[in-house]
Amino acid sequence: MASLDAFIRDVPDFPKKGIIFKDITPLLADTDALKEAVRLLAQPYHDLEVDVVVGVESRGFIFGPAVACALDAGFVPTRKPGKLPAKTISASYELEYGTDALEMHADAITPGQKVVLIDDLIATGGTISAVRQLVEQLGGDILGASFLVELCFLSGRDKLPGVDIHSLIQIQGE
Ligand code: AMP
Repeated sequence: MASLDAFIRDVPDFPKKGIIFKDITPLLADTDALKEAVRLLAQPYHDLEVDVVVGVESRGFIFGPAVACALDAGFVPTRKPGKLPAKTISASYELEYGTDALEMHADAITPGQKVVLIDDLIATGGTISAVRQLVEQLGGDILGASFLVELCFLSGRDKLPGVDIHSLIQIQGE
């Protein structure tokens, strides 16, 4: 199999001019690449007795539950405002292309649970630091955060001091 980065397609000027969108759909469509990505995303956490994998809407919903199954853990979604039906907590964040907020059910995590964060990509790190705030507000213990792609030139990991960051594909510059 080709290395995983061969399955990520660059789409220039999406969703707006100047952004090079990292399209993961070729990787999702390939049986071996998808299995390998899920295996590698879960790898750092085996034997750590993870309770919950937290995934970020929307592409974190693709990898999160698969990684949760690989780790014998549950899955908790963080969603855009107004999507979750029960009582929520909320944190706002900045994207590479805009600002938004994320919500999590207020009872989704109990204090002391061991949590892994999953998303497809870390850019500026704003999204995942909002997720971190939500998990920590509920008393979760974050074991690490894993991403398929890291845009290293945006230094997103600097926004997450104290969190173990893992990425499968590092992009050094555009
Ligand atoms: P950030 O908060 O800047 O780390 O942005 C990460 C979030 O935005 C992830 O949920 C990504 O799916 C999405 N994202 C940001 N930049 C890109 C990009 N260049 N290509 C694909 N997705 C991106």
